[in-house]
Amino acid sequence: MRTPLVAGNWKMNGTQASVAELMQGITQGAGNIDGADVLVCPSFVFLSQVRTVTDGTSVALGAQDLYAEEGGAFTGEISGSMLADAGCEYVIVGHSERRALTGDSDSLVAAKFSAAQKVGLTPILCVGESLEERKSDTTLAVIGRQFSTVADAVGIEAFRNAVVAYEPVWAIGTGETATPDQAQEVHSALRGMAAKRSAKIAADLRLLYGGSVKAANAADLFSMADIDGGLIGGASLDTNEFLSICEAATG
Ligand code: PEP
Repeated sequence: MRTPLVAGNWKMNGTQASVAELMQGITQGAGNIDGADVLVCPSFVFLSQVRTVTDGTSVALGAQDLYAEEGGAFTGEISGSMLADAGCEYVIVGHSERRALTGDSDSLVAAKFSAAQKVGLTPILCVGESLEERKSDTTLAVIGRQFSTVADAVGIEAFRNAVVAYEPVWAIGTGETATPDQAQEVHSALRGMAAKRSAKIAADLRLLYGGSVKAANAADLFSMADIDGGLIGGASLDTNEFLSICEAATG
């Protein structure tokens, strides 16, 4: 039985004032969400502030990225142990914006996944194809490569404590969403790839969909057999939208 997870990726947004307002609404509303896990992933600078609000509530805290090294002379970077110390339980790795903006390769994503687990964080591994890749019918090959590079590096056992998010790049922040059938096709293929390595781990693995999810389309997406919640960007900055999406995940 997989408990759905709804994760808000705030990206590079917010001020101390807007974060306080958003979190007040989310923690209040999340108390009424029964049957889905709720997670927020603020910018690094807001982690401590958000932790003071999430502590003692059902809302979990996560980060948007980490550096693969444990510590040392890496100016400007943040390690997994710093995130764990700041109260994070989860960390996103391989988001398409990091793959595009800072060139995170499949092997670096695998190293980040491993670094996260070493300090007890649950990695949320993002995979997804570009529009060109979808048009050239290479979606499953791309997703297979992104998933297998990590699974080969860390072993399938590591996925006992991990989440995978399918995020078609063409649907992120564009307002264009994969249809439930398009998303389900990829989710089912992803679960199949994991099942070739371990049927049990694949059956328990939470697979999130991300890409312009909003209150209006969440229930249809989450009703699909292999979609276990969502990774939410823009809509996670709006308390009511985000809480409606969380509610949709409870089925
Ligand atoms: C994301 O940032 O992971 C995302 C899915 O963004 P959006 O919901 O805005 O498309």
